[in-house]
Amino acid sequence: MAKTTLLKRGSHGAAVRALQELINHAAGAALVNVDGDFGSETEGAVKAAQRRLGLVVDGKAGPQTQKALKAEAEPIKPGRAEPDKSAMDAAPAPAAQPSSAQACPPPNDDSLVLLDTARPISEIIFHCTATPEGKDFTVADIRAWHKARGWTDIGYHYVIYRDGRIMLGRPVGQVGSHVAGHNTGTIGVAYVGGVSTDGKTAMDTRTEAQRRSMLYLRNSLMARHKGIRKLSGHNEYAAKACPSFDVRRDDLGRVAA
Ligand SMILES: [Zn+2]
Repeated sequence: MAKTTLLKRGSHGAAVRALQELINHAAGAALVNVDGDFGSETEGAVKAAQRRLGLVVDGKAGPQTQKALKAEAEPIKPGRAEPDKSAMDAAPAPAAQPSSAQACPPPNDDSLVLLDTARPISEIIFHCTATPEGKDFTVADIRAWHKARGWTDIGYHYVIYRDGRIMLGRPVGQVGSHVAGHNTGTIGVAYVGGVSTDGKTAMDTRTEAQRRSMLYLRNSLMARHKGIRKLSGHNEYAAKACPSFDVRRDDLGRVAA
């Protein structure tokens, strides 16, 4: 491989295109257009990545930044697959579960990498996707809905699929878009579901696998971000049912001392 050159605003060509692909891959999101032109959008994404990776934030992608991005992108590869919807239809409908789930690694644990961030995190806010019980939706679906609202990316940092897989949404290094006035310093986690099959009645539709994975993710995030002091639900901040249960009265809101 050729010597890594310093890419910065105004650079263009194949190396910039490779960098843009790397940025998107490392973030697990289409943050920048892969057009081979290093403009303000790419510069902003490089800065965000540098902040997340704990590097000098200068918006220039030199060898160190490119190496860190590559290292971050590598382990995520196998986990990016979206679910096979045909298989999902056969999944048993979730029964009402007693609130006794134990934290348990997600089915995609071998490929799940929780990104690090220098952004101070003090709270996790839980959401639902407000989609009908028994139906699967992917990060790509949710990202498309949120982009249709004019947002730059999916609003949540993590999405928990019905089969318990923990999927990356917006990189944690970036401020989310999930609770008006409470996006700074928080991580947004949404489970797929939250309304009954009629598509409108709020209902805690979490599957056993989702409960286990949400507890696991909460524990993992709290271990990584020591500043987390609060676990809450969207409904504590807005006149909404989301996440269709009371986090304060749930296992999720209770942390063993
Ligand atoms: Zn919400």
